Amino acid sequence: MTNAIQVRGLTKRYGDVQAVKGIDLDIRQGEVFAILGPNGAGKSTTVEILEGYRKRDSGEVSVLGVDPARPTREWRSRIGIVLQTANDAAELSVRETVRHFADYYPNPRDPDEVIAAVGLTESANKRVRQLSGGQRRRVDVALGVLGRPELIFLDEPTTGFDPEARRQFWELIEGLAHDGSTIVLTTHYLDEAEALADRVAVIAGGTIVAEGEPGTLGGRATAKATVSWADGSVETDTPTKTVLELSRRFDGEVPGLTVARPTLEDIYLTLIEAPRD
Ligand code: ADP
Ligand code: MG
Repeated sequence: MTNAIQVRGLTKRYGDVQAVKGIDLDIRQGEVFAILGPNGAGKSTTVEILEGYRKRDSGEVSVLGVDPARPTREWRSRIGIVLQTANDAAELSVRETVRHFADYYPNPRDPDEVIAAVGLTESANKRVRQLSGGQRRRVDVALGVLGRPELIFLDEPTTGFDPEARRQFWELIEGLAHDGSTIVLTTHYLDEAEALADRVAVIAGGTIVAEGEPGTLGGRATAKATVSWADGSVETDTPTKTVLELSRRFDGEVPGLTVARPTLEDIYLTLIEAPRD
């Protein structure tokens, strides 16, 4: 498998703020890769450098084999971008907007199918300006995927979505991934990363503090389990043994029994709270 994206030693400073402090990334072709991290961690800066929207200070970056600091037209046509800040809403309707942008691409998706995929069919004739924030965001996502990009960047695509819209968006992303697109998304939602991502990187303070599959991130799979029951709980490496002992003690069913490993959110919070520098 070749890498869609390769980054080595990426740095970026704004005045006194060192926003990105030496990031390495390898994102494989066809992978769904989520970048997690608190506000100000450096997610947008990193993603916008990869998109060719911002200049880096130092480091090596290759995106689909091209240095995004020297983008070509052909390269741009292979990439779909959903920026964190929404596009300005025009007076055009949703359908007019999507059709208009479809004309820029050599082989666009069907505008009405894209509108349906982001759940905007019923609002297709409304002016974008009249839509709610979450609905406008869906227009951004529609425009980002319209050109059948090989590689799609989505910076906080679902912020402002209601739960149903988020599920629809997840289906859209799963469909795009199934068709072979490489997808890089930033998100604040741990469940979103867990549902969609093959791999996750957690960025805090401009560096990657953990990287891996959502199920095993930060030692999650091998972390101690907590066995709890009606009047007690214990942390253990051998939860099965504990449950068997409890079952003997209670002579069968253990009242209120649960066995839990740390959630992705537990791991994430530990990672971003750890002291840095
Ligand atoms: P994130 O997307 O993870 O919230 P950003 O990449 O937007 O993080 O920001 C990283 C840091 O860089 C923050 O401290 C932010 O305030 C700062 N920053 C981002 N963009 C600019 C800019 N254009 N000028 C000055 N500082 C910026
Ligand atoms: Mg951001």
